[in-house]
Parts: sequence; structure tokens; C-alpha cells
Amino acid sequence: MTTPPPATGTGEHSATTRDELPATMRAWRLHEWGSRPTLDRVPVPRPGPGEVLLKVDAAGLCHSDLHIMDSPEGRLPYTLPFTLGHEVVGTVVAVGDRAEEHWLGLTCAVHGVWSCGECRKCRSGRDNYCVRLDGAIGGGIGLDGGLADYILVPSARHLVGVDPTAGTALAPLTDAGLTAFHAVDSQPVDVAGAVVVVIGIGGLGHLALQVVRSRSPEVVVAVDPRRGARDLATELGADHAVASVAEAVDLVARLSGDTGADLVFDFVGVQDTVTAGARMLATGGGLTVVGSAGGSLTVDKQGSVPRGWRVAAPFWGPHADLAAVLGLAADGEIASVVEERTMDEVPAAYEDLRRGRASGRLVVVPGRDPSAA
Ligand SMILES: [Zn+2]
Ligand SMILES: [Zn+2]
Repeated sequence: MTTPPPATGTGEHSATTRDELPATMRAWRLHEWGSRPTLDRVPVPRPGPGEVLLKVDAAGLCHSDLHIMDSPEGRLPYTLPFTLGHEVVGTVVAVGDRAEEHWLGLTCAVHGVWSCGECRKCRSGRDNYCVRLDGAIGGGIGLDGGLADYILVPSARHLVGVDPTAGTALAPLTDAGLTAFHAVDSQPVDVAGAVVVVIGIGGLGHLALQVVRSRSPEVVVAVDPRRGARDLATELGADHAVASVAEAVDLVARLSGDTGADLVFDFVGVQDTVTAGARMLATGGGLTVVGSAGGSLTVDKQGSVPRGWRVAAPFWGPHADLAAVLGLAADGEIASVVEERTMDEVPAAYEDLRRGRASGRLVVVPGRDPSAA
């Protein structure tokens, strides 16, 4: 599922375009820092050399979108305006090069880190840390993203072919799923047999929980103040689900015979969760902070955290991990819980996200609107 089938001839298509493209499309664009995006009508981009155009099947909404739109001017190195949406699954409808024609008609997940493919990080498979990405990261994060009818992707290198019948639930795997997978997978501590704590059972946490669960941990403790999220955690295989990090500290001490947790994944990242996450650690344990909500931690060699501590703050994930996470989904090991929304419902959907009213991930399906392009 990670490589496209060989070219089978494009007899029914024109040289580079699968279907007649409309002149304009809808796009949720951010025009001003500290403001909400607006629904604009903009030209449908035509792919230049190397580029591919996808009709968007689904675009997930992410807390990062809120951080972006809430940011004051000057905080982020992006130029406005741009179209939001960095969790995208779509169908390739036009390509800029004849060499890429075999992608036409394929449903693909978009790897959101539009890395250079050539620097030392990219060459070593750590393209999520591409050294040339010092401004915009990719579509929806500084460049035009997929909260639109179409998205222009700079290279087919960023695509992973997926089962077209797998549906809209694949969109969140490109960020929420990939970030969660990479956070777990890049841990040097083996999950098998470990005492694991997952803080925040939202878009990312509910996926991380499934990745952790698939690796035979000793015990998994989920933490979330929302009852619905705790119920979901239990459904997804958490052994315990508690409402606060204070409860988790006590529970972990009890469950581990006072030795602590081997792995703590913090998908919230406020001061309370970061502090408690460090407090819960066992000797040689690892705290991974993924949520970016302002919490900080001071560590030193002696005393503040148990011996052998390891603190990580991974960013998103490499292309190879996206293929792996989509493979897990195809095998039924993980699935994202999604609620679908139309393009017109985007403002209300962001409000739901802001107020924690969504369980799982909110996914916008442009084709659902009566006004779809
Ligand atoms: Zn995101
Ligand atoms: Zn690079």
C-alpha cells in the first residue's frame, strides 16, 4: 500500500489531468494573526514540474491549527495568507510531469512535512527534522493546505498510496496518528513489559494508546479529565483510566510497587502534566512531551528526576513512519475515531475542538457539502 501500482496507460486521461478541473475552489484561509480563518474562493492551482494536485477527500482538524490562528504576529515564521489543513487524504487528479502520470486516480495520504529529500537528515530517514525547513513546514503549516477542495503538493515523494475504500478515518493518521506512532516508536525503552502512562486521550492520545497496546505493555494507565475520553481509553485497552495526573501519580506508585512508570507520554503539555509526568518516572524511564501547551521542566543530572532519565519532545514523524502507521491501520491494529464535518461547519468544528467537545478527531469532508466544487 505504500507504493503506487505501475503505470497502466492513461488512455482515458489527458496528459496530466484526470478530470476537467474547475477554475475556482473553496479554501479556509488564515489572513491575519490572532484571527479566525475565512472561507475564500480561490483559483484551483495547476501543478508545475514535479508537483501533484489532489482533490481533497478528507482533512483533519488539529489543535495546532488553533495554535497557529491564535499566534500573535511575529511568533511563527509563516507568511499570510495560507490555507489551513495539514492532515490530508485525497485523490491525485493532475500531475505536472508525464513521469508522475501513474499517480493519477490514486487515493493518497499526504505526508505533511514537505522536506527537501536531500539534506543529511532526509538522507538518514529523519526527514521530519529536515534542516532546510526553517520556515513553513508544509501544507496547512505555512503553505497552502488541504482545508479546501484541492491541495497542491510539491512532490509525489510526499504521498503514500492508501486503500480508496478506507475512508475519511485515514486523514488523522497523517498527523495525529503519525505523531503518536513516532512518539512511541522512537523511544529507546521497550514498551513490552513496561508500565506506561498516556496523558490526554484526544486526537493523538487515543491513537498512541492503541500503538502502545499493540506492543504488550505490562500495564497502561490513561489520564483524561473527560469521562467520555476515559470511557474511550478503556474501550481501546487501557487497564486504568483516571481523571487527573494527581490520581495517576498515586496509582502508578501502587501498581509499580513504588518503582514508577517506565514510559510517560504527555499529549497535553501543560505545567501540571509535565511536572507530574516527571514525578511518575521510574529509574531509566522516559518522559515524552508531545502536547505543546506551555509546560516546562528543569532537569539536572542529580536529583530532580530519577537516575537514567530521558526526556524527549519529538516532532511529527518521518515519511517511513507514515507508511508504517497506515500499515497498522490496514491490518486493523489501530483506527482513529472520527466525527465528520462539512466545509461550511468548519468554524463550529474549530469551536468544538477548542472547547474539548470532540471525542476522537474532527475531519472535514469537502465532498459532503451541497456546494462542493
Ligand atoms: Zn497537527
Ligand atoms: Zn531535508
